[in-house]
Amino acid sequence: MFTGATTRKIVCFSDFDGTIFMQDSGHVLFDNLGCGAKRRQILDEQIKSGERSFREVSEEMWGSLRIPFEDGFDVMEEELDMDSGFQEFHKFCIENGIVFNVISAGLKPVLRKVLDTFLGEQEASRIQIVANDAEIKSDGSEWKPIWRHETELGHDKALSIQEGRAQAAEEALEGEVPLIIFIGDGVSDLPAAREADVLFARKGLRLEQYCIEHKIPYIGFDSFSDVKREVQAIMKEDQQKTGGVGKPARFNPRANMWRRISSRQAVPKFVAATPSREDRIFLWPESFSEYQPRSVSQDIPA
Ligand SMILES: [Mg+2]
Repeated sequence: MFTGATTRKIVCFSDFDGTIFMQDSGHVLFDNLGCGAKRRQILDEQIKSGERSFREVSEEMWGSLRIPFEDGFDVMEEELDMDSGFQEFHKFCIENGIVFNVISAGLKPVLRKVLDTFLGEQEASRIQIVANDAEIKSDGSEWKPIWRHETELGHDKALSIQEGRAQAAEEALEGEVPLIIFIGDGVSDLPAAREADVLFARKGLRLEQYCIEHKIPYIGFDSFSDVKREVQAIMKEDQQKTGGVGKPARFNPRANMWRRISSRQAVPKFVAATPSREDRIFLWPESFSEYQPRSVSQDIPA
């Protein structure tokens, strides 16, 4: 443990594609071994325009793969770049008892294999992956996502973080409130942005822009080396201010209130201020589906 580290329980949730890896692992597979880049871009547009749901389009993308699972990873090794500071940050987490979870809209076996390939199985085994499952036929003739949640996105990252927070609180010592950290980059991270006590957003991308637009406190990063430095400072601050007891110095009270107003039936009033259609699709997928138009004003609780 480094000097000044807090004794508080800290749990990290990190997005995978575009965050731990600079590219999107799904895109690498689809472009090289599935529907191809052109078709994939058309499908991505269908999500952005709201024409088809994320889940439906993802099923088509994964379903376009025709290769045995093991054969997909040569191309991953060639085309994916891990964030330059990630491995050091992950080792720092292990040394300091920080729980590190991947939280992703992708498929668990694929993410597991990529981590095994880049970190080695032993180190990768320290990372829990919270993502969708998959059924992949051994001859590669079928790739089928098994969705984590019965929602249009297939995985409700906000819900998974809330579950992680509840579990950490249960495991924490009496009177100790765990500190939840989220690290992400893009539009699929928007629902998770308000769930963490400390939020890291990769600089220059959609999550950061959203935080600026909605005045959500965040820390920008270029690489996980920045995340490590900031987490060290946060741990030091927490130890000085709280001694690791009670609420963390960086406690986010809104993280516990958010769910009530973002439930399926209730769309927050400020939804009208959310500029892009794509944001809305990720933030309120059921409410904004093109197929299920519903009145926004009727759904706001009194
Ligand atoms: Mg991402």
